[in-house]
Amino acid sequence: MQEEFLILSRNTKEVFKKIIDDAVSAITSTIDSANAFSGINPYALRSIISKKEILPACGVGWRSVMEDINHDVLPHMLRSWDPSYMPHLHSPALIESIASELIIASFNNSMDSWDQSPVQTEIEEKVIKTLTSLFGYDDNGDGTFTSGGSQSNLAAITAHRDSFLMKGGWDVKKNGLPPYFDKLRIYTSEISHFSMEKSAHLLGLGYKSVVKLPVDGKCSIDIIKAEEIIKSDVDKGLIPFLFVATIGTTDFGSIDDIEKIRKICNRYKMFLHSDAAYGSGAIMSSRYSDRLGPLYLSDSITIDFHKMFLLPISCSAVIFKDKKELECFALHADYLNREEDEEDGYINLVSKSIQTTRRSDAFKVYLSFMMRGKNGFASIIDHDIEIASYFYNKISSDPLFLAPVSPRLSSVVFKVNKSDNVNKRIRRALLEKGIIIGQTVYNGSVMLKFTLLNPEINEEKIDFLIEEIKKLSEKF
Ligand SMILES: *Cc1c(COP(=O)(O)O)cnc(C)c1O
Repeated sequence: MQEEFLILSRNTKEVFKKIIDDAVSAITSTIDSANAFSGINPYALRSIISKKEILPACGVGWRSVMEDINHDVLPHMLRSWDPSYMPHLHSPALIESIASELIIASFNNSMDSWDQSPVQTEIEEKVIKTLTSLFGYDDNGDGTFTSGGSQSNLAAITAHRDSFLMKGGWDVKKNGLPPYFDKLRIYTSEISHFSMEKSAHLLGLGYKSVVKLPVDGKCSIDIIKAEEIIKSDVDKGLIPFLFVATIGTTDFGSIDDIEKIRKICNRYKMFLHSDAAYGSGAIMSSRYSDRLGPLYLSDSITIDFHKMFLLPISCSAVIFKDKKELECFALHADYLNREEDEEDGYINLVSKSIQTTRRSDAFKVYLSFMMRGKNGFASIIDHDIEIASYFYNKISSDPLFLAPVSPRLSSVVFKVNKSDNVNKRIRRALLEKGIIIGQTVYNGSVMLKFTLLNPEINEEKIDFLIEEIKKLSEKF
């Protein structure tokens, strides 16, 4: 094959097909490997990769680089599709969505301005409309795609901070933080995602502005204590501006009570953001969407498509009840998003976004939503929730195990009723076999975790894993 080819063009159609074919063959040749991971230890893997000469004076060409990848890289790739993989909210990708990634990369459109992504801009707008209506917002809703749940949360916290201060007559965009900035407070669960603290830092408010509220036995915010804490903070002269409810905590999948939290927010004139990075998928399910509560009561919602929806990383959106809140990201540049464009109907999405150059992730949603429909997603999500219940019920009736919280979504935190050390060793031993489960801490004690997002995890697989864990627990 000639190696001078550069870009996808009229002249390189055949080369393009050959290269993509080679890549597809390389991927499919790994599919029959056992388990999710080769089990290689980090030192051995580092030594393979650190020997590579990544930037030779003369390139080695396509054929050699593929040999290298087939030999040293793909065998050790984490095979996220394997049912032995369940440590994180990290899903396998739906097959058609891999094809949508190929289309996205081939055209390489960028979402910042209409002239860089004409049809993709219109698609993102349409997908956002579909989402605002799916989650119960009216025509005044709007949103944007982001790099992930963390950036969705950052965007929501930024917008609500700005709106809150603007109501009090302070324009953060122009002036930076107000003199009383160190009194501003965000309230969220003690087990909410760490992107709250990270956002608070980036926004100049510091970690101390994030007040962590205690949770009850179901790992949801204790509403009575929450209100006591807020009231006492107000009495001390602090300024609550935002409550972040978690709709599916990262470990437990537990869900905060939106209806009650909304009442607190109304009483104290706070904004309400729902971090539904995990739980948002359940909106597709007629059986389980009730569990999420009335999400439309929140002022904004984080939705991750690279978790329960099984779309490839990255794919996330944040939607707002009031589209005006997104105006905090608008800033006109003569070279990019001219004001006259918008007057003539050319939408430049950069005006709603933290990012400038941005992938057309909304296209993955467009393609898979249309192809599978709501029912197609419901059957995946129902399966995940039901298999989590199956696992929980099975271990709850076995004295060897302890599972403190009944799952609302698809993750189960549990431990073998032995020391922390035995639980840690069980996870490590499974990892060395290429079976990857999660580990966390609950009430000071090391816990194991199954995060069940893979629709191919069935009862047989769960039974097998329970037996493996039992065997290991006897060994250590
Ligand atoms: C995963 C997760 C996030 C972060 O999302 P990323 O897409 O990883 O940035 C935020 N909140 C919750 C509750 C999550 O589970």
